[in-house]
Amino acid sequence: MSSAISEQLGARNAEILESLTEIRSRVASSSGTSNPATLVAVSKFKPASDVQACFNHGQLDFGENYVQELEDKAKALPAEIRWHFIGTLQSNKAKVLAAIPNLYSIQTLTSTKAATALNKSLPADRSAPLNILIQINTSGEESKSGLAPLSASSLAAQAEATKLARHIIAECPRLRFQGLMTIGALERSLSAGGENDENADFECLKGTRDILAEALAAEFGIGRWGEEGTGRLLLSMGMSNDFEAALKAGSDIVRVGTGIFGARAKKE
Ligand SMILES: *Cc1c(COP(=O)(O)O)cnc(C)c1O
Repeated sequence: MSSAISEQLGARNAEILESLTEIRSRVASSSGTSNPATLVAVSKFKPASDVQACFNHGQLDFGENYVQELEDKAKALPAEIRWHFIGTLQSNKAKVLAAIPNLYSIQTLTSTKAATALNKSLPADRSAPLNILIQINTSGEESKSGLAPLSASSLAAQAEATKLARHIIAECPRLRFQGLMTIGALERSLSAGGENDENADFECLKGTRDILAEALAAEFGIGRWGEEGTGRLLLSMGMSNDFEAALKAGSDIVRVGTGIFGARAKKE
């Protein structure tokens, strides 16, 4: 490597480490002491060297949106990394995802078809079940994918999200239903600034979690779903703009890209 390039790389790594350290300390100070939150570093469109720099600094959890990009990075980077798939999931890509040995979770499941395909494709000798979060469209925006949230008045047992959770628990032994994920409306994350501002997306996801957990406990008891099979469903909510508010609202997993790696080139 020429010294000019290695110097550039060194400057880039120093910059990333500074943002990673800052985000980590903000996550730590906003999350509860009993259950420290997981910071997923969202590395889409960023080079493998950026991921490696964070990994060298002890960061294990990374999120990717595109199957091909995830596959390439997983091959090139350390096997200890825990990859989280957070992009739109198509069932015809299940096989490729299932073959990535250190894929830790899929946070964007919305169909029984994709669940079945994943369960079928995962190798029998995998060291642990693949963690699954169901994506909920809490803002109801057409541009966002996700199943409808549950509200107290809806018939939880018949709702699509409940049916999907039931399918994972009862029919997909190589998957573990771990919780719920939302993206939420951008305008809500930008406008909520005050201490007492409630973010409607976060409240909606929490409410959905509570109703769903009750329905599942009545049907299955605990031990086969939730974090480590405890029946505690995790919430993945909060991104660069709003992760502190999300943590204060009870988020377990925050997904931060721009805050760590800087702005992304637009692919769309
Ligand atoms: C890109 C992305 C993120 C990270 O967004 P930032 O605003 O850059 O932190 C988080 N979650 C999902 C689902 C994403 O697609």
